[in-house]
Parts: sequence; structure tokens; C-alpha cells
Amino acid sequence: MSSADNVMDKLVSLAKRRGFVFQSSEIYGGLGSVWDYGPLGVELKKNIKERWWRSMVHAREDIEGLDAAILMHPKVWEASGHIAGFTDPLVDCKHCKNRFRADDPRIKGTPGQPDAQCPVCGTKGSLTAPRQFNLMFKTFMGPVEEQAAVIFLRPETAQGIYVNYLNVLQSSRQKIPFGIAQIGKAFRNEITPGNFTFRTREFEQMEMQFFVKPGTDGEWFERWRDERMRWLVELGIRPEKLRFHQHTPQELAHYAKEAYDIEYEFPFGWHEFEGIHNRSDFDLSRHQQFSGKKLDYLDAGTNERYLPYVIETSAGADRTALVVLCDAYAEEEVAGEKRVVLRFQPSLAPLKAAVFPLVNKDGMPELARRLYDGLRRHFNVFYDDGGSIGRRYRRQDEAGTPFGITVDGQSTQDQTVTVRDRDTLKQDRVAADRLVDYLVQKLAG
Ligand code: ATP
Repeated sequence: MSSADNVMDKLVSLAKRRGFVFQSSEIYGGLGSVWDYGPLGVELKKNIKERWWRSMVHAREDIEGLDAAILMHPKVWEASGHIAGFTDPLVDCKHCKNRFRADDPRIKGTPGQPDAQCPVCGTKGSLTAPRQFNLMFKTFMGPVEEQAAVIFLRPETAQGIYVNYLNVLQSSRQKIPFGIAQIGKAFRNEITPGNFTFRTREFEQMEMQFFVKPGTDGEWFERWRDERMRWLVELGIRPEKLRFHQHTPQELAHYAKEAYDIEYEFPFGWHEFEGIHNRSDFDLSRHQQFSGKKLDYLDAGTNERYLPYVIETSAGADRTALVVLCDAYAEEEVAGEKRVVLRFQPSLAPLKAAVFPLVNKDGMPELARRLYDGLRRHFNVFYDDGGSIGRRYRRQDEAGTPFGITVDGQSTQDQTVTVRDRDTLKQDRVAADRLVDYLVQKLAG
């Protein structure tokens, strides 16, 4: 087993044990490449999405929010190019019936030729030549399963933004340049095994489309590329684990004029988890053409009419959560004992603090409960009175909880508690009635 497998195995097992991520429908043997977020995972992902929303929508005058439906008019996907072009070359094994991406590194030989070997059943010559396979999930709208009613689960959230661009522009009284941001589910019938939540069939995207005047697109593209990297570093992700990858002309998607991926060095290598794309006027011009509705913009100042260019920042909420998890994971020795710790930035941590009575007597549980009830009104906190204090600290280290609050013998005398810092392991003595202020200050820093 390679060390990458080893780290991922440990992370997957921690994620399950502590309630971050579970396999979908596990009691039925699981559903491939679909995952559920448990009590800690849902908080982590929600914190990431909220951070994104705050910085993209609330902190800016020039971006509006949107929540478009997953189901859209089927013509949208003709206009976007997804019906014709959203395909991966796939090969089938005629023997075991498994299906693989044609570029699956586990395939030995050339698919379609007698030398090719199936990576699952090992049969030689059983792999078909690559065939294009559309990644969109199809379903039927209405009671009759007929061709006319075929619709798709959206494979990206961006199209919901383009088709609402005029609605948002007019209702919000924005002027170009301005953007529309959206967080929502997307679905792709991906054919690649492994790597936990990295590539899933149902996932969430955090996308922002910024509409600009043609000619200013190059400058806005650079601004957004730098801004997105800055945001990720602010999230506490180690800068040396982040890098840009500029798309070569061969890699550029059909809609893109210029594109950068932001990559993270996962235990299984460098991979993209966010893309910044200059989509030119491809999408708006296609929707204009397919819908027959004019989508151009009239600049009231100059009387110019033009179809805006779009700069897109497209991040996966699940992939960003995986980046945050991988980046936070550490094993270390503390006082001769091994500990596993998730060093989340406090603002992203699912639980902000845990409250412990040192022992379950002498008035400590009563005071601890009272503090816990008070803190709960402000933060997501946890109460734990089971096992030795060392074990309770360790359990919270594994959950990434930044502060451990212990009510001890002194607390019942002078109404102070100790607050242990997850990373420095230092303990501060804090007055119980100042705890909320103390945590607010620490969580902001
Ligand atoms: P990949 O090359 O990994 O399939 P992509 O280039 O198709 O990704 P985009 O279409 O640009 O990805 O989507 C933007 C973001 O959405 C990605 O950077 C990623 O974070 C997320 N994303 C895309 N597909 C998936 C998936 N199957 N599972 C989880 N996240 C995804």
C-alpha cells in the first residue's frame, strides 16, 4: 500500500467514525461515488459555503445571489453544448460488464485491441474501443415516459445564472460590470472509481458568473484569478499546497477563451478543485440564438449595446471540503502520546468548543451544563462528560474542535474555567461570564 493510500484510508475512516462523511445507502451495500455528510461534515461544508457566500455576495456591492432550480428547459442543454459535447470516451469490459474512462491509468494496452486488459477482471481482449458517453443524468417530466418529456439533472449551476441574467440585472438595478453567485447541486454520471468525495455523481458547486464589457475581460479574468487564490489562503489552506494550472489550447473547454485551474496537492496528487474561466460571450450568444430572446446590454451612459463577456469562478463545495479536511489532518506526538488532530481554521470547525466537567460531582456538572446552555445560543458546542479528560480532549482534537472548556474544582469556587487551545495546547483561565466574548474574539482571529 502506498503512503497516499494510507493517508486517504485514515482520513476516510476518521470521516466515517466521527460523522463527517458516510457512504450513501451503506446498509444496502452503498451507491457508487455518492456520499452523505454526517453531523460534523454538514457543519464543515455549511461553514465553507457560508464563507463563500459572505465574501462573494454580502461583502460586495457588485454581486447578487440566485438559487435556480435543478430542472431546466431541455433546450438549455442544447444551447450550452452539453447535449452534443458533454461526453467522456468510455470503454466497456465485455466479460465483467464494468465500464471505465478510456484514460483510466489502470488499463494496460489499447482498448479495442487484443492486448488490452480489464483492470477489474483481468481478462485480455475484452475491452471495447472507446465510445462517447454523455455524462448528464436523464429523467422524465410528467407521467408519460416519452421522448418529448426527457429532461436532465443539471451538470453545472452556471446555466441557471445565464438564463436569469436579464431578470437579475433588471430587478436588482445592477450595471455592468456585475456578477451573479449561486450555490447548488449538480449531477454528472462520472465513471471513475475512488478518491473518496473528490469525484462524485452528485455534488455541490459554488459558482459566480461576472458579466463584463468585451475588452475588459482580460483584466477581470486576472482579478478574479488572484482573488480566488487569496480567498483560499485566507481559509487557512497551506499556500505551498496550492498552485495554478493554466489550460493549454488543447485543454480549453469549447466555451473558454482562457482558463486556470486551482489545484491542491491531495495525498493522491495535484488535482483541480476550482476553475476560473473566461467564457467570452459564448453562453449568452448561444442562449440568445436558441431562445430567440435578445440578451444584449444597453449602457445608458454611452448608449452602446453589447453582449457581455463572462468571467466564471467555479468551485466544488465538496472538493473544497475535501481540501480543507486533507489540509487540516495531522498526526503528532504530544507528551509521548500519539494524537490525530484536524487543524481547521476555527471559523470552519464544525464544533467551536466542547464543555467538560472534570469529574461528575461536587457541583461541576451543574456549572458545566449551565455554561454549555449559555454558549449554545451563540456557537455550535458539544458537551462531554464521558471518560478521562485526556480522552475527551483527544476526541475533540479528532473532530477539529478548537477550544476545550473544563470546569474543575476551582471553577465552583471562583466561577472561572480553563480553555485549552487545540493547536498550542496552552490553557487560559477565563471568567465564566466572559466566555462568550473570549470565544468571539478567538474565532474572529
Ligand atoms: P474534472 O476535470 O475534475 O472532471 P471539470 O474540469 O469537469 O472537473 P468543472 O466543470 O470546471 O470541472 O467544474 C468546476 C468544479 O466543480 C470543479 O473544480 C470541482 O470542484 C467541481 N466538480 C466538477 N465535477 C465534480 C464531481 N464529479 N465531483 C465533485 N466535484 C466536482
